[in-house]
Amino acid sequence: MSRRRSARETISLGAEAASVWFRYNLAEPLRSQPGFPRAMHFISTHRCNARCVMCGIWKETDTREEELSPNALGAILDDRLFERMEYVGVSGGEPFLRDDLAEICAVILEKCPTVKRLSLTTNGLLTRRMRTVLPEISHCARSAGALLDVSVSVHGMGETLAEIYGVAGAFEKIERTIGVLEELRDEGRLSFSMNCVLLSENLISAGKLRKWAEDRGIPLSFVVGEHRLRFRTEGLDEAFVGPDGQKPLVDFLRSLADDPSQSAVSAGKYRELVAMLEGRKTRSLSCYYAMGGLLLGHDGRLYYCSHSKEIGSCGDRPPQEIYYDSSNLEYRTRDLLQTECRHCPPYTRTRWEIEKDLPRTLAEIVRQKLPRSRRSS
Ligand code: SF4
Repeated sequence: MSRRRSARETISLGAEAASVWFRYNLAEPLRSQPGFPRAMHFISTHRCNARCVMCGIWKETDTREEELSPNALGAILDDRLFERMEYVGVSGGEPFLRDDLAEICAVILEKCPTVKRLSLTTNGLLTRRMRTVLPEISHCARSAGALLDVSVSVHGMGETLAEIYGVAGAFEKIERTIGVLEELRDEGRLSFSMNCVLLSENLISAGKLRKWAEDRGIPLSFVVGEHRLRFRTEGLDEAFVGPDGQKPLVDFLRSLADDPSQSAVSAGKYRELVAMLEGRKTRSLSCYYAMGGLLLGHDGRLYYCSHSKEIGSCGDRPPQEIYYDSSNLEYRTRDLLQTECRHCPPYTRTRWEIEKDLPRTLAEIVRQKLPRSRRSS
């Protein structure tokens, strides 16, 4: 249940937002190199029990031997590069396939005591395992003063999801998991949401999923499926929406942007996606990877983000040395920030990104209050 914020809390949140706006819009651009990252995504495994049509990770041979153990992960996180980490996402493959997932989370929270939010992304197929492990992770997060949230990938309903996942009865399994997550949420142990990747196979039925999530009161965010190095998507063109699907895709995203039940932040994200797909603009919304983030692979390799090439392996060199290597930084500026980012569709709207884009966020709030006839696209 939501509660009203006290004046003191409101002032403190406002001051924090102003400080993020100042840091990332005025101070950071003056630095010759980025500060220590504050967000990290850890790919805990490449093993997966789904066979998604838009992902090639599961086709790799068993990666168990290469996976960082909790001890090896801890040794990497001892590096100073991680001393200001505030947000950590753990995904895969399917993270709940790891028997030591609770230990992995415990190590992250122990070695990065500045973490405020730990987020797990899952395909939601391992209901029983999640029921057993999540209370343990939640307890650990709470003891460390961090929030735990879970994002379940649900790319459709019924047969559509079974085909996308390559798993019979996938939707029924996920419904059971959602039931478990609702219980844990009601016990105050975590928050959870769902995410759906828009693909050629689910575009037509995405509205049904949206209605189902709305009726159940579960936040659902949509992203546009696209090629990404990290998901080994070479050769998977058919999974993504092709030229014939562009109009229905834009219409669907526009309906989300114009939906008064969407938050101003989500509406702004969908509006930007529409403008990018229509070729009217390049990306202008912030990205936490670009603001100072990194991606750590299951085998200790580092990347600046999910579109980045590998920049080095923590098995060969200390993480800080890799992150600040001059040729890597040159690659980051030239190939990512000045090139790739311009066309990279926004898919997250974390608190930092929102705070960095504060004037845009406020403008979107005002826009939502205007009568429809007075809103510009
Ligand atoms: S390419 Fe740029 S915008 Fe896209 S994820 Fe990487 S840093 Fe973020």
